[in-house]
Amino acid sequence: MAEGCIFCRILRGEVKGEVLYNDGQAFVIRDIRPRAPVHLLIIPVQHFTYLTYLNQATEPMVGHLFTVAEEMAKREGLGANGYRLVMNQGKDSGQEVAHLHLHLLGGKHLGTMG
Ligand code: 5GP
Ligand code: ZN
Repeated sequence: MAEGCIFCRILRGEVKGEVLYNDGQAFVIRDIRPRAPVHLLIIPVQHFTYLTYLNQATEPMVGHLFTVAEEMAKREGLGANGYRLVMNQGKDSGQEVAHLHLHLLGGKHLGTMG
């Protein structure tokens, strides 16, 4: 938990943000500024900042985000058409929130990466 972190605050129920899923390891919310019809954020419960700090102990936590993403994609009806996962890291990616998270985007043709 980090005091000022927006995702930690949402998890604590301090700010509005519907938690769609929480298994104690990862939780899921809808992005407040959706860039696709479905835009979810899959977030580790543990406040963890950047992949730079990943080690053997924390590696499974990142893998779990992908398992949850696949489950959420099914729940959101994206199974047949697919989806995109994005993880921003640092300044050049435009990363806004320094608490690791996976964007799950889908529900339309997303175009090519650019
Ligand atoms: P980043 O740019 O760090 O990869 O993504 C952070 C995402 O968090 C952005 O897409 C932004 O719209 C979303 N976000 C920022 N503040 C809030 C908030 O208070 N609630 C929700 N649900 N999403 C937020
Ligand atoms: Zn946090």
